[in-house]
Amino acid sequence: MSAEARITSRSSELYHRALDLMPGGVNSPVRAMRAIGRDPIFISSGEGSRLFDVDGNDYIDWVSSWGPLIAGHAHPAVVDAVASAATDGTTFGAPTKGEVTLAAEVASRIPSVEMVRMTSSGTEATMSAIRLARAATGREQVLKFAGSYHGHVDGLLAEAGSGLATQGIPASPGVPEAVASATVVVPWNDRDAAREATERFELAAILAEPVPANMGVVPPEEGFLELLRERADHTGALLIFDEVITGFRVSSGGAQQRYGVTPDLTILGKVIGGGLPAAAYGGAAVLMEQVAPVGPVYQAGTLAGNPLAVAAGLATLELLDARAYQRLEAVTEALAAGLRRAFSEAGVPLQVQSVPGLVTPFFTTAPVRDYAGATGCDLDAYGAWCRGLLELGVYPPASQFEAWFPSLAHSDEDIERTAEAARAALERIR
Ligand SMILES: *Cc1c(COP(=O)(O)O)cnc(C)c1O
Repeated sequence: MSAEARITSRSSELYHRALDLMPGGVNSPVRAMRAIGRDPIFISSGEGSRLFDVDGNDYIDWVSSWGPLIAGHAHPAVVDAVASAATDGTTFGAPTKGEVTLAAEVASRIPSVEMVRMTSSGTEATMSAIRLARAATGREQVLKFAGSYHGHVDGLLAEAGSGLATQGIPASPGVPEAVASATVVVPWNDRDAAREATERFELAAILAEPVPANMGVVPPEEGFLELLRERADHTGALLIFDEVITGFRVSSGGAQQRYGVTPDLTILGKVIGGGLPAAAYGGAAVLMEQVAPVGPVYQAGTLAGNPLAVAAGLATLELLDARAYQRLEAVTEALAAGLRRAFSEAGVPLQVQSVPGLVTPFFTTAPVRDYAGATGCDLDAYGAWCRGLLELGVYPPASQFEAWFPSLAHSDEDIERTAEAARAALERIR
């Protein structure tokens, strides 16, 4: 493995043009790689577990487009399905057979889902599920957990004020205080705070990533999801699981199947579109039939259920059989074990947290159980380590607060090379 800096001249040139044309040169902030203190890398193609940049460098990709690419880049079955769908026309603004097949597939896998409505992004799906929960309960406040991400919905860009259970304050300029204050924010895995918040506020919904992955991977502690279910039942709030990341990943039926806790509404995204823009929200028919045109809750989308996205999603789900999940779990365990070994060989006792399909190496010595734990990590060291990994041909998420996304395309050799690079990059920054 060469340790010299890679050539980045074409990436740099594009980046400097992009800076004048797009904020930060990107269309989504994390891509700018500012959190790890370097310029972004412009990508030209991907194949399996491999990513190629515009300068001809290649990388073992652990980002997998932030989750959708559970089968790897340009999987032939997915590419064929999309190409064939495109030949028949890319959008009709009218129902198609593929949507029915995909809805049936989702309902058969996800325990809480009888009916779904598709959208084009996870943000839209979350926003719509909350609207439905408010309509169904006649209440306005929504509880979320600090460090969880549910898309850039105004009301969910709220952070905790002071105190155990607090009304949110805007986490971004442009979010009205009145909107943020309809969100109640409590620490993840904090049973007392969750109990207090559900007693103190009239909640329309308790919204959770059942395995938070947007502060890094922080699994629910024993009984925590059960507590949320119980609190929702007791108070009349709806329990909403945002399974945009965990759906079809931590198991075929998502986190709700893995942990045996069934929410009222489920939000899906990422894998459901197989790498094209698609997401969905779903639940029991009595709830979902409150959505237009059957019910009064308005929600719509010009490209919702887009034929290419549906084809890519269906082709991806077809690859996800029992054997695929065994393999994904094995890849996850091997990656987590490889990173742990690398850290211990380098003499740095870091935390590696994982569930099947998701891994986060946290630059801290104590287990991370909430957002405060995640933000306490050594972010500068994580950044320096990531810069080293990139030089060594390994492409990690460019933020401590993200998951690594193993896929079915990752080989045992990819994991070996990653573990070796992890050790070498760590030794360089020590
Ligand atoms: C990515 C993500 C979203 C938002 O989905 P977009 O398609 O990016 O709008 C929502 N919730 C979770 C848990 C996510 O990881």
